[in-house]
Amino acid sequence: MIRLFSIFFKMDFNTLPTALDLFNAAYKNFNRYKKGCPKCKAKGFLKPFAGYDHNLVDYCNKSILEGHVEIRRLSCSSCQGTFGVLPDIFIPHKSYNIIFILKVLKAYYCRTGTVEALCRQFGISTSTFYAWKKRYLIHKSLYLGSLAKYFYKTDPHLNELCNICLTPFLHHFFNRFGFSFLQYSKTAEYGST
Ligand SMILES: [Zn+2]
Repeated sequence: MIRLFSIFFKMDFNTLPTALDLFNAAYKNFNRYKKGCPKCKAKGFLKPFAGYDHNLVDYCNKSILEGHVEIRRLSCSSCQGTFGVLPDIFIPHKSYNIIFILKVLKAYYCRTGTVEALCRQFGISTSTFYAWKKRYLIHKSLYLGSLAKYFYKTDPHLNELCNICLTPFLHHFFNRFGFSFLQYSKTAEYGST
């Protein structure tokens, strides 16, 4: 899989583009001729192969927007490997994208009503919400480390400010742990055996 970490730079929650805009921008900036094959590392051998449908849910102007986009696949003519090209708004193997989940979590931490009302607003079940919150807190703790987390009284990614710079964070998280932020990881949730 090729992960594209390109679009979260200086993301402003108040004037956030739609998930579809962010998705399109990620592909617009992707150049397959410059990207090395994730398997054999050869450059200039990636060719369009096929695509597959992916849900794209967003929450804009107090409405839930449900749609679909096509995820590109590429094949390498050097090693014959095939790879999905997944923009950074998507969490591997998850239907909901990271923008939607962060909007839900931000609304949760700023909420005045109940969790049930919040879940109705975003059209999700309470079990889904608590699963997201649990994973978010585990990954946050993992990232900040056992000591650094005590220095953060407020959440640095959701509560502190409007402009957040997620690109280095998402990229660093992926490189450091080998799985994407908010992606399921057995090791992260249950510890190594
Ligand atoms: Zn290759």
